[in-house]
Amino acid sequence: MATPEKSGAAKGGARNTAAKGPGAKAPGARTPAAKGPVLKSTAVSHVGKIRSNNQDSGYAGTNLFVVADGMGGHAGGDVASAIALRRITEIDKPYTSAHDAVFALQSALIAANSLLAETVFEHNELTGMGTTVSGFLRVDHKIAIAHIGDSRIYRFRGGKLEQISADHTFVQRLVDSGRITPEEAAVHPRRSVLMRVLGDVDAAPEIDTQVLDTAPGDRWLICSDGLSSYVSDEKIQHVLATVRNLSDAANRLIKESLDQGAPDNVTVVLVDIDESPSSAHVPPITVGSASVPLSYDSDNARRSLRLPTLLLHPLKATQPDPSHFEPESEDYLDELILEDRRRARRRRATWLIAIGLVVLAIIAIIIVGYQWTQSHYYVGDDGGTVAIYRGVQQTIGPIPLSSVYQKTTITLDQLPAFNRNQVEATINATDLKLAKEIVERLADARTQ
Ligand code: CA
Repeated sequence: MATPEKSGAAKGGARNTAAKGPGAKAPGARTPAAKGPVLKSTAVSHVGKIRSNNQDSGYAGTNLFVVADGMGGHAGGDVASAIALRRITEIDKPYTSAHDAVFALQSALIAANSLLAETVFEHNELTGMGTTVSGFLRVDHKIAIAHIGDSRIYRFRGGKLEQISADHTFVQRLVDSGRITPEEAAVHPRRSVLMRVLGDVDAAPEIDTQVLDTAPGDRWLICSDGLSSYVSDEKIQHVLATVRNLSDAANRLIKESLDQGAPDNVTVVLVDIDESPSSAHVPPITVGSASVPLSYDSDNARRSLRLPTLLLHPLKATQPDPSHFEPESEDYLDELILEDRRRARRRRATWLIAIGLVVLAIIAIIIVGYQWTQSHYYVGDDGGTVAIYRGVQQTIGPIPLSSVYQKTTITLDQLPAFNRNQVEATINATDLKLAKEIVERLADARTQ
């Protein structure tokens, strides 16, 4: 359930542009400032068009940039992403090496994981909550990355967008093992099922880390699946290539998702590695559920909201969140793969039945059509002799739709020119009786 202050404040979200140069000072005691290229960054989050609350959180800081996408029943997703993000933003400071930065990120994610477990222990109603976390620390010309879940990190360089993080989703597992194609994964009904998250699920979460170089001109994008599941990589690449202003580009990406109906919350953190130094300093930006007060402390308020919901909508209240976590056990994976195969078989069977029905319909039309032609007769020339034909004069390709039904002894050269021309052009008869009458008339018209 969304508390009133959350669903209200979650809409839109803060937006800002931060420019930090080698001379810029980080807030508080977090000096000295980072060396290396200048950063410009922004963060935008939108609740989307369907959801009642924003379970995403985003952060564009001095050295640190993060997106967290929460999940967990009808309560807890917003809490999970907010708790994790707030804990992780404590490490937004300069680091002397990328190795140190990776270690700091990893430690912060594990600490956030423990914090989530503790919170669930104290607040039972949050059981099952979890969150994705994708973020990086900039250290000079390097980017130290930590990632778990299906939020994404992209690097846009030289006009090309490259997905840096790997989705920890069930469908990505299927793609990796060659069971389905990336195109099939993009529309798979289970594409939101996560195999790894932070939260009330795993004491030792498996976090991906890596260090990559960065150079002036690079654009780094971190986004929740509210963007990447609904806006194609080609479209994202096009926006990043054509919209140079940072805030405009971030807002354009949000708009692209809204144009697709934005069924999910959508969060964008965009970082430009810039060559032009700027002395302007902008404080870190927090957007989404981490930007508003947490509501889980007020147990009474939550209960008063939940009880009527449970009474009025007993099923609705227990419905799982559309984006949910499943344990990464091989048994479960096998079960999902089996289900996937069954689904594929059902789809194939449906197609075969449909194709069979179409073929049967075509055959029926041909049979009925042929029978209709065979109820017609005409009088025509059969090698110089008048004959009654059954069928119609037309052919289907090389196949004639008529055949000689009855020959006569009347030859064409016995007929006056007018009748001869008629026979050569064929004379239609609606039935056999009329055809025979025509033949009798021709016999009477014989000149010899
Ligand atoms: Ca999401």
